[in-house]
Amino acid sequence: MLQVCGPEGAQRVSAAIDTDHFRGLLLDARKRVVAALQNLHDDHAGTLSDEAGEETAYDNHLADTATETYDRELDYTLEENSEHVLADIDAALKRIDDGTYGVCINGGEQIPAERLEALPWATLCIDCKRQRERR
Ligand SMILES: [Zn+2]
Repeated sequence: MLQVCGPEGAQRVSAAIDTDHFRGLLLDARKRVVAALQNLHDDHAGTLSDEAGEETAYDNHLADTATETYDRELDYTLEENSEHVLADIDAALKRIDDGTYGVCINGGEQIPAERLEALPWATLCIDCKRQRERR
């Protein structure tokens, strides 16, 4: 695990992080997100043609159309998040290749393995994340 092959990078990769393990977690998560995205797209393809035109739902904000609009907005939010997560996962996989995986992008310190275990595509350590959220 301790790679001392190059002057660059080796210093930044902690021996405590098993990148192969996290690569597996990331690839697993990626598969699930891609499947979720496909489901969402399939759902839209099926329902959009069945339902009344979208424009009517936006034109008159009546009570009976509100629920339908809300449901669809919820779907879109989910979809947006999935695509966001997918980008995060791909970025994390790239960082594994670059040898910078598990390093906080804000402070440059090592992100604890427990945090990466919970969120393999985390880019910030807990402290920096909290700091950002406070702003
Ligand atoms: Zn940090």
